[in-house]
Amino acid sequence: MNFTKLPQLVDMRGKLKSKGTYSKRTKTITHRVWHHSLTKKHLGGSDAASFADYHVNTLGWPGVGYTFIIEPKNLINTPNGKRARIVYAHDIDRRTYHVGNSNQFAIGICVAGDYRYDTMDDATIASIADLHSALVKDSIGKNDTSHNEMPDYSWKACCVYDYRKLIKWQGSTTPVTPSPAPDSYTIQEGDTLWSIAHKDGTGGVQVEDLIKANPGIDPAKLQIGQKIIFGNAKDVIVRPDKPSSSGDETIRSIQKTLNIRHKAGLIVDGFNGPRTKSALIKALQTELNKQFNKKLVVDGKWGAKTKAAIVTVEKGAKGNLTWILQAALYLEGFNPGSLDSIFGKGTESALSKFQEAKKITADKKAGKATFTILFAA
Ligand SMILES: [Zn+2]
Repeated sequence: MNFTKLPQLVDMRGKLKSKGTYSKRTKTITHRVWHHSLTKKHLGGSDAASFADYHVNTLGWPGVGYTFIIEPKNLINTPNGKRARIVYAHDIDRRTYHVGNSNQFAIGICVAGDYRYDTMDDATIASIADLHSALVKDSIGKNDTSHNEMPDYSWKACCVYDYRKLIKWQGSTTPVTPSPAPDSYTIQEGDTLWSIAHKDGTGGVQVEDLIKANPGIDPAKLQIGQKIIFGNAKDVIVRPDKPSSSGDETIRSIQKTLNIRHKAGLIVDGFNGPRTKSALIKALQTELNKQFNKKLVVDGKWGAKTKAAIVTVEKGAKGNLTWILQAALYLEGFNPGSLDSIFGKGTESALSKFQEAKKITADKKAGKATFTILFAA
């Protein structure tokens, strides 16, 4: 093997933190996948030992997962010049975790550092190039790719540095920008809420958001193939009676109607979030202006003026206001049967259940008190 002879390589197989073992690959390695660690390269925790601790203790993986870890903060003087240390962490034939369902045929190489902010130094670039050419000579893998070029990981901020240029040692660090996180995500091998969260730092999707938005899942027992609410987890309000993770067909129809009728520009995802609610308030304000000449500012926010402008909707009513009431009841978990814009038995029954639950006078009429509880944040 050429790679084992690299002077900057240290063999730490079996020496890093582990818990159990990874199984053996049953497919040939076709991909060399490049990662960065998202930890600033000069920090204490930016090395193979710390990544192993984190992956084993927090993610619950059997071992660190990357076959190789390049450590910019550990410099080694070699006959070829200064090089960043390369840690050899797992046997090549182990199907370690790092790219989900592609683990079977992909080895992982992690360059310590957060290359959204760090710049890469020459010793690190040289180690990337050395390791790459040794692996090519050893016929380990055919294609180079970044983590976010592997199936369904386009949202990952990994590897960010331009590995294509680095493996040819041209010294460029042009960033590779990740795509936005998809609204829903299908769990792959080795994924945990902790490994897929924290996207884009503190402002991104956090583990707590994922837990809240996916009440039906056990964070400790994610299943491969399981679909979860992901990119918009922060905004999702889950209906307590329907903790589904694939969205709701009726909510999709509400969103489509708001888009068509009111140009709401909503993502039709079947999840009840603040944008859907705000679009419904806009629709209500628009209808009050059109039908009752109310002159409200159409801003999608519930306020005193909108409340004062409310007209009572009751049995026998027909039209867009009734539809808005039906949609609002549905979003709160009180199903009027069908959203047909006609205030009939189903709407009456959903409304009186809502009024009872919210302790409003159960008069089966939707007036100021009812609309306030339906729409005020
Ligand atoms: Zn990665």
